[in-house]
Amino acid sequence: MKAMVLSAPKTIGEEDVAQPVPGDGKALVKVTKTGICGTDLKIYQGGIPVAYPRVMGHESVGTVAAGGELEPGTPVIVDPAYYCGDCFHCHNGQTHLCPNGGLIGRDVDGGFADYVLAPTHNVHPLPPDMNLTHAPLVQPMTTCLHAQRLAKIFPGEAVVVIGLGVTGLLHVQLAKAHGAYPVIGITRSEWKRDLAEELGADYTFAPGDDVKDKILEVTGDKGGADLVIESVGQLSVLAQAIDIVRLGGRILPFGILTVSEGALPFYDLYFKEIQVVNARVAKPEDYPASIDFVERGIVNLDKLITDVVPLAEMKRALDMLEQGKGIKIILDHEA
Ligand SMILES: [Zn+2]
Ligand SMILES: [Zn+2]
Repeated sequence: MKAMVLSAPKTIGEEDVAQPVPGDGKALVKVTKTGICGTDLKIYQGGIPVAYPRVMGHESVGTVAAGGELEPGTPVIVDPAYYCGDCFHCHNGQTHLCPNGGLIGRDVDGGFADYVLAPTHNVHPLPPDMNLTHAPLVQPMTTCLHAQRLAKIFPGEAVVVIGLGVTGLLHVQLAKAHGAYPVIGITRSEWKRDLAEELGADYTFAPGDDVKDKILEVTGDKGGADLVIESVGQLSVLAQAIDIVRLGGRILPFGILTVSEGALPFYDLYFKEIQVVNARVAKPEDYPASIDFVERGIVNLDKLITDVVPLAEMKRALDMLEQGKGIKIILDHEA
C-alpha cells in the first residue's frame, strides 16, 4: 500500500509499504480522510521524537476493510489512543492515561496511508449521513470535550478562550453547549474573531493592554472569568490566564506547554486560589458524545476546515501549517 513515510525529521515522502494485517483484536480501516495537526508538525520537525521510519496521522476516517465486529464498508473514525486494558489505570477507567499505551500515528504507524490498523474497540462507527470530510475533526473535538468534562462548566459561568485555532473554536462551541455565559474569545486574528462570533462567542477581543479591563467589564461582580482555557501553549499566555481568571476560578492549560522553565505569577495561583485543571487526550466515551454533538448541529465543524489537500501533497500541507495558514487542513486520500 501507499504511505507517507517520515524517515527522519523534515524528510517525508510517498513509499510502498507492507499492508498491515488485521486479526488478534485489531481491525483494518481503509482511510479516506485524515486531519493534520500541530502534533504532526511537531513530529515532522523533530520536536516530538518518534522511531523512524514512521507513518504519522491520528485523525483518521474511513471504512472498515476487515477485522472486528463492524460490517466491512461501515464508515468509522479511529480513536488513536490505544491502551493495555489490564493495568491499574485501565481498570480505573483512565484508559487514556495507560502507561503501556500510546498514540497511533506517533508510537505506531498511523493514518497517512491507504490503510491503518487499530484495536477493534478504538474503531467507532460514524452515522451513514455524516460528512466524512468533516469527521476527522471529531478526534480533536474529543480532546476538548474530555477537557471540558474535567473543567466542569456550569450554566452561566464566564468562560474565556485564549487562542482561536481549531481547538479554541471547538472550546468556544462546547462552552456554549454547556450553557456558559458570556463566552469570550481572544486572538490577534480579526477573521478568527469574526468566525468565533459566528460560532457563538458572545464577545471577542484582540490581546493587548486593555483586554483585562474589557473582561472585567463583561464579567461584572465576579471580577474575572470563572474559567480560562489557554489554547495557545505559551507560558506568557498562561500568565495572562492567571491574570484574567476570577478569585477562586479555574484555568485549563489546554495548549501543550513543552517548556520546563520560565516566568509565571506563582503567588497569584495561591492568592487567587486558582484551580489548574489539566487534561490529556480523551476517553473512549468522548467519541459517541462528540459524534452526537456534530449530528445534532451543536458543534459546527464545516467552518473550521479551510483546506482539503491530496494526501500525496502532504508536504505542502505541512508547509501551510508551519506558516500558520488557515485553520484545519484535511488530507484527501482519494484525490
Ligand atoms: Zn491532532
Ligand atoms: Zn493500561
